[in-house]
Amino acid sequence: MKKINPLYKNRISLKVGPHDKKNSPVSVIFQKAAEHPQPGEPGKEVGDLFIERNVDKTVSVIISLGSKTKNGSDSYRKAGGSLGRWLVKNNVREANLNLAKSAPQDDLEMLVPLCEGVLLGAYQFLGYKSDLTPQPTLDFYISSNRHADMIEKIINKTEILISSVNLARDWAHEPGNSINPVTLAERVQTMAHQLNLKCIILDETALQTMGAGAIVAVGKGSKTPSRLIIVEYPGHNPQPDAKPVILIGKALTMDTGGYSIKDRDNIQGMKYDKCGGMIVVASIHAAALLKIKTPVVGIIPAAENMISDDAYRPDDIIKSLSGKTIEIVSTDAEGRLVLADALTYAQRCYEPRSIIDMATLTGGVVTALGRLRAGLMSNNHELTRQIVEAGEKTKELVWELPLDDDYFQQIKGDDADIKNSGGKEAHPIIGGTFLKQFVDEKIPWAHIDIAGVADTPKETHYSPKGATGYGVRLMINYLENL
Ligand SMILES: [Zn+2]
Repeated sequence: MKKINPLYKNRISLKVGPHDKKNSPVSVIFQKAAEHPQPGEPGKEVGDLFIERNVDKTVSVIISLGSKTKNGSDSYRKAGGSLGRWLVKNNVREANLNLAKSAPQDDLEMLVPLCEGVLLGAYQFLGYKSDLTPQPTLDFYISSNRHADMIEKIINKTEILISSVNLARDWAHEPGNSINPVTLAERVQTMAHQLNLKCIILDETALQTMGAGAIVAVGKGSKTPSRLIIVEYPGHNPQPDAKPVILIGKALTMDTGGYSIKDRDNIQGMKYDKCGGMIVVASIHAAALLKIKTPVVGIIPAAENMISDDAYRPDDIIKSLSGKTIEIVSTDAEGRLVLADALTYAQRCYEPRSIIDMATLTGGVVTALGRLRAGLMSNNHELTRQIVEAGEKTKELVWELPLDDDYFQQIKGDDADIKNSGGKEAHPIIGGTFLKQFVDEKIPWAHIDIAGVADTPKETHYSPKGATGYGVRLMINYLENL
């Protein structure tokens, strides 16, 4: 069978070593921090680098894993991230990690986050730089006295997983004058074709005919109308009666707020309002290449929220695909509208095992949880448990918020069935409560509000400023454990 390459090529290529030292003068050592670090010893903070130039002209890079007592798997990911960034910035062509001389030594479980960190930290978005010189791939050799086959397995999987995360980052960084609902649909179609997956694109006429009035309304002010993008991954040797997990991702390729327009400061960075959709694209990409057993359907409602004489307005009453009528309080609460139609579509066209939607939905979730955890709301305890667990394992963390039925009173419609905004109180929960009205309570469903974690205003250990790619590792871990 033809080998399918990932759509995104990582800057660093992981390889099983050892490699000839003459050609690879950089050796890498990971160490836990000393109590009082001396020159030649790793610094106290995780990710601190110490560079040692040896007499034979080789260079040793010592990376701190941080405090001895606080050494979780994310320390390895963070330390790896620092190294990945350093290797790329210094244009190192080859580097060696000998596990016998370095942590994690025989703890191959820790090699996974370490490799993830290296590939995540090496990511840069350079596509629009005019002075760009060709960027060579860097080879990172990992050697050990034993376990070569295990190391190879880890490398292969990590390369696919992180190339998927980096794909999500890359597309998220693309601005609205490059990715709009129409061009996004074309890109997903190309990806689906390369991966031999079925892809359905519903254009504005199809959506209108079908009665998907919410997603159509949101995109009406734009020259590039809304699209509903569906990709089906059938699963690798699934059980004959296996039901698909449905992943839904909000993709507002640009969100001006519409007539409830955002101010000058808040409109910046709104290209990242498509990050939910990018997680879904990337998760399908990873699931297919990693041959995950469970069937997965990705649904991406894509729209551009703009102003024109066609645009939808506050006070408008629109009819969603479910038949429920929605009174528009704020045209900037548009994410829940496109998601409502996507949720209905998912339940009409498939028999879901579970539905998980991800969206940069509310500023309120950033106020509540900051940039460390996403807000999780669900109608099902088991699904909540599975996602929380996947979050702890991948360090793509979530925190559960309540969804009591009585919250609905805040968005009960005056002239229609439901309002799309309920004022200032309990913002993220009201977002979840709105979506809950469009889900059959018998279907396990979760909503993850990623507004605080989808992008970062400053560089972190393993993400540059901008899109983090949060959610892909979380979703793949969830799928793998089903
Ligand atoms: Zn908005």
